[in-house]
Amino acid sequence: MTAVPTPSTGTIECQLLVIGGGSTGVGAAWDAALRGLRVVLAERGDLATGTTGRFHGLLHSGARYVVGDPAAARQCARENEILRQVATATIEDTGGLFVSTPEDDPEYADRFLAGCHRAGVPVEEISVSQALRREARLNPRVRRAFSVRDGSIDSWKLVWACAKGAELRGARILTYHPVIALLREGDRVIGARLHDLRAHRDVEVRAQCVINAAGVWSGHVAQLAGCDVGVQPGKGVMVAVNHRLANSVISRCNMPGDGDILVPSHSVSVIGTTDTPVTDPDDTEPTAEEVAKMMAAGDVLIPGFSQTRVLRVWAGARPLLPQNGGRTGEDRDITRSYTVIRHAQRDGIAGLISVTGGKLTTYRLMAEDAVDAACAELGVVRPCTTAESPLPGSAEPHHYRLSDHQREFERRIDGPTVCECELVSSSELVTAVRDHPQADIDDLRRLLRIGMGPCQGGFCTFRAAGILHGCGEYDRHRANSALRRFVEERWRGQRPALWGQQLRQARLDAWIFQGVLDVEHLPE
Ligand SMILES: Cc1cc2nc3c(=O)[nH]c(=O)nc-3n(C[C@H](O)[C@H](O)[C@H](O)COP(=O)(O)OP(=O)(O)OC[C@H]3O[C@@H](n4cnc5c(N)ncnc54)[C@H](O)[C@@H]3O)c2cc1C
Repeated sequence: MTAVPTPSTGTIECQLLVIGGGSTGVGAAWDAALRGLRVVLAERGDLATGTTGRFHGLLHSGARYVVGDPAAARQCARENEILRQVATATIEDTGGLFVSTPEDDPEYADRFLAGCHRAGVPVEEISVSQALRREARLNPRVRRAFSVRDGSIDSWKLVWACAKGAELRGARILTYHPVIALLREGDRVIGARLHDLRAHRDVEVRAQCVINAAGVWSGHVAQLAGCDVGVQPGKGVMVAVNHRLANSVISRCNMPGDGDILVPSHSVSVIGTTDTPVTDPDDTEPTAEEVAKMMAAGDVLIPGFSQTRVLRVWAGARPLLPQNGGRTGEDRDITRSYTVIRHAQRDGIAGLISVTGGKLTTYRLMAEDAVDAACAELGVVRPCTTAESPLPGSAEPHHYRLSDHQREFERRIDGPTVCECELVSSSELVTAVRDHPQADIDDLRRLLRIGMGPCQGGFCTFRAAGILHGCGEYDRHRANSALRRFVEERWRGQRPALWGQQLRQARLDAWIFQGVLDVEHLPE
């Protein structure tokens, strides 16, 4: 059923408004659309530009939490198995290794093993020589190794698939539409006012129920209705280096700490993360010290890691939920489980549900619980089917393989290559912008991975802008501003890690963009 626009007033009517286009929000939109509800989703930026697009990339087996947070471990273990069935195209089944390095507490390994068994997290202890055969670069001094069902998951693919599935069932996905007010009638929320950032006008969405899935920003959204959520932002920094140094996710077998997980993601490896309390979830600029700390931590897992070329650095803010409503001390001690709040029951404000906390791995379960609560609010009984319904693009049972992209690219070679690092052709670029007419080059990066390789857009971004202008998709103003925005965004991700080879690359990119193209002064 399609959400109905009322053109004369600019008002949209629907049963359910979801606020937030991260994994939880699009998961809720997909779930609700499958249940036949009329859904609108509002996101302040592009999809997955919050924490979901700034995470580590790990599909948790649950093993990380078996000792300190068994409830979260059980949730992750169950959801891991479900996502392996319904989100196949977004997951690379890398498997995971937990290894006791000489720097780890040797007693933790037995607690870890017992914790896995208690929490139902599949685990197998393997010999160190087996582990070293599997991962040749692994620290040869590790003392014990455990094989688990960790994986690598592409959050952009996941989010786009949920959004597409929801749209195919009539949902409207409004990106670049921040919610600026919640509409109230007495003690009931009846919708929201959004600001359309591209058309520069406000839009009203009238909804019978609103799900606040704004992640670490859910407190700000709930405040618009005078309610509190009590979410605590925890900043985490991640560093991508330009080789796939391991094919499995490798974690240290110790209580969770900084820089103790290495995730293979497409053709790169990502080390992370930190966990620092911050007051503003938008204030997550990584520092050079944090990068140095991550690189040194990488050496413990893969000797020589710190000598590899850093491609890019980013940080995200976790939506953490201190159980006593205030800070409990270390962020690492705060549960990775989630909460669904029916504000009707807690604050006497009907029509509003908040869902936050959790992990990307548990997004489906969070969405299911939130939409169950929305159905209760709407007085309808519609069972959740997301655990049995493959996402668009995931009908095939096999998982994503690193070689798939290259094979697919070679199969359809259909025009000049725009991005050599990530294998993006000009026809793919043009098709993507025709499918997503509002997308600028940075949005296309999330869709196609253009500009994500070693040159960080140095060679492909101006080509992309030129091609999109040449074929009439971008006018001059749009091509120039998209180019500038992309270059600024890439620069932010490189600045804290400018040394060695990547510094040379950054100098070359600067010559191209400033010296040759003078991007700062391109005509509007
Ligand atoms: C450093 C780090 C590493 C992580 N690594 C992992 C990992 O490896 N595996 C894992 O499973 N989990 C991981 N997580 C946790 C996981 O990323 C998050 O729990 C999850 O992505 C949260 O998704 P979300 O949809 O709830 O929030 P978000 O993705 O933040 O989505 C909320 C959305 O709401 C939007 N929004 C905010 N205000 C408004 C408004 N007023 N109007 C409209 N929209 C609004 C935001 O723009 C945002 O897109 C990590 C988190 C961090 C910080």
